[in-house]
Amino acid sequence: MSVWQVVGQTRAVSLLQRSLERGSLAHAYLLIGPAHVGKMALALNLAQALNCEASDPPCGECASCQKIALGKHADVQIIGLTSDGNSAEAKPRAEISIDQIRQMQHSASLPPFEGKHKVFIVDRAEQLSNEAANCLLKSLEEPVGKVIFILLAISESLLPATVTSRCQQLKLPPLAATELEAALNSGWGIEPQKARLLARLSHGCLGWAISAASDDGLLQQRTQQLDRLLDIINADYEERFAYAAQLAAQFSQNRGWVQEILDLWLDWWRDLLLVKVGCNDTITNIDRSAILIEMARGYNLAQIKVFINNIQAAGEQLRLNANPQLVLETFMLSIPGRRGELGEIPLPNLR
Ligand SMILES: [Zn+2]
Repeated sequence: MSVWQVVGQTRAVSLLQRSLERGSLAHAYLLIGPAHVGKMALALNLAQALNCEASDPPCGECASCQKIALGKHADVQIIGLTSDGNSAEAKPRAEISIDQIRQMQHSASLPPFEGKHKVFIVDRAEQLSNEAANCLLKSLEEPVGKVIFILLAISESLLPATVTSRCQQLKLPPLAATELEAALNSGWGIEPQKARLLARLSHGCLGWAISAASDDGLLQQRTQQLDRLLDIINADYEERFAYAAQLAAQFSQNRGWVQEILDLWLDWWRDLLLVKVGCNDTITNIDRSAILIEMARGYNLAQIKVFINNIQAAGEQLRLNANPQLVLETFMLSIPGRRGELGEIPLPNLR
């Protein structure tokens, strides 16, 4: 029996399984989905299926499948951002270079070394430099037998249309919280209460949930950031501006981190909205539901909606390279006042 280890993603898996059985695989795939949703897991599974020695691939157990799982198969290569450790996020301009693609093409021109197919996985393909993407195009336009390219990206819109149009696109949507919770519980043996929380916090991305389950640091970080968020909501302008300045300083070194903080704010205020409209069951921060319920009493629905728009606008402006300090200070000024407190203070015009 073939063993696809990817959790969920039944649509993509059954499509690939059918193509394998018919021998009608595309020579290039583009797997699209949010970070940690399982794109790499599916790509490696496909590489296993292509090189498996069993009659019903992928078996997950033969020498070939095991080598691929360990990243030690000579014919399966991963091309991605070259950086020291996990600091790729820290470099806003990091990209996959044309040299990396040229090396890949050279390797693709040689026959498989130990397996049946050569598989090249381009991780974070949205980070391909323009030159690298153009160079890659050549490989996509002139397919070679026994060579398969698998591009991974968070959105097809971040890649040139010339590249995406030459790949078969497979969308990997986030998993439903209940599905993920069940997988964490049964597949990874995570205790029910933690599985429930991680399923919510991961927004359907299993990879994140598994990392957070094995590394307490991720949950501790979230706790600290959430505590800070609550402090800031209750703080005066001086403290809020200090927070904005701190985030702005971080932004120049680590954009991803600041976006994560904004995502945390967004989750919190969406939860307030959900509580406000009586959908307490669907909130993300289930371990803080008591605070959310209490806090939601202090705002009206319109205030919450406006502020959610402000959080999204701040994120968008940062992505468009607006001045981070200005964006974050404006964002801090727009935190709504609670009933019976300061009241709402109109936004100063900072433009
Ligand atoms: Zn196998």
